[in-house]
Amino acid sequence: MDEKAAPIKESGEERRARMMRKRKAIDLMELSFAEDAAAFASTDEYDELGFVSPIDWIRFNCHMTSGAAAASVAVGRTMDRLPRSVEAVSQGEIGLAHVTVMARTAEALKDRFDERPLIEYAREHTPGKFHFYCQHAKHAADADGYAETEADQAQSRRLSLSTWIDGSMVLSGVLDAFGGAALRAALEPLAHRSGEHDKRERGQRLADALVELASGGPHPASIQVTSSVETLLGLAGASAADMEFSLPISSKIVERLACDCSVTRVLLDSESAVIDVGRAKRVVSGPARRALAARDGTCRWPGCDRPASWTAAHHVVHWVHGGTTDLDNLILLCHRHHWMVHEGKWQLVRSDDGRMLAIPPTVRFGMAAASRPDPQPEPFGDEGVDGDAGYDSSS
Ligand SMILES: [Zn+2]
Ligand SMILES: [Zn+2]
Repeated sequence: MDEKAAPIKESGEERRARMMRKRKAIDLMELSFAEDAAAFASTDEYDELGFVSPIDWIRFNCHMTSGAAAASVAVGRTMDRLPRSVEAVSQGEIGLAHVTVMARTAEALKDRFDERPLIEYAREHTPGKFHFYCQHAKHAADADGYAETEADQAQSRRLSLSTWIDGSMVLSGVLDAFGGAALRAALEPLAHRSGEHDKRERGQRLADALVELASGGPHPASIQVTSSVETLLGLAGASAADMEFSLPISSKIVERLACDCSVTRVLLDSESAVIDVGRAKRVVSGPARRALAARDGTCRWPGCDRPASWTAAHHVVHWVHGGTTDLDNLILLCHRHHWMVHEGKWQLVRSDDGRMLAIPPTVRFGMAAASRPDPQPEPFGDEGVDGDAGYDSSS
């Protein structure tokens, strides 16, 4: 830390070596700071000092962002479970950014956390890649918890469109991982520079791409998903699946995406050999799709009238479990209702008189109350287009 300023004539190599030494020293100081931050956060001192939280006190007095303060506390709180990470920082093998990811993973996995395989990976890869890897580890250790986090995320989705007095529109919002990736996949090809003369900034190109898409752009979205068969089957210990433009996604999402093959998928066996690429035989296309559209007409969710062209062909018995692509194993579902059947854990059953009934997850009936109080499954009448057939959610 006490190295003098650069001598006048030094090689680039000397400067680079000095930068690396300084970064290591800074990271070691950060670990030391994190210990103090966690100790402080375990007291009520912030309250006596008139702050709303320990993070708030640190943020204000140590001149940090809330995110950086919270990361410090998380690192300090888990540090006694991360001996290999601390050692690797002192050896200059990994940086604080790795340790922060490690700490968040330790907190998420609780007693299922195992530092050993993770530290091996961290040594070899950037913090960004390591973050991806830890997402896979979280899924492998707790696929249900991972899927629930995604489902919570999806419940926070929102989009607001406000028109200003001059007629321009302000968009702001949050999408879940899949929604965000789908939007990116649709926009990115349209947002490329159209040539040397194209001086538009990236933000402008994305805005233009969104408008082009909304006005019927020529490039339908195609998202690639890479998954192992174990993940698709939801087997315990399976890692998450990879999707373009997204953090790794849970087996629940893959199950839905694979259901109607609306994505380009790559399935790998346990040796990572490709065993199935793309929208192979299970695609419901051509005459079968037309017959299905003619039979169902709209999304089959009770009361939903999304037209057939906006729907996916849902396999009642998933093909991965041996379901066929015959008409009687298929029903049309719109995006939202397809989500509710797969990730939302709703059930669609055919009543004796042929009507479809939507059965909410069991938590609704107080049978197996989930540990997660929110979000409650929504009754299906909240979209305006949905009707009132089906069940009584207030029971
Ligand atoms: Zn489906
Ligand atoms: Zn629907």
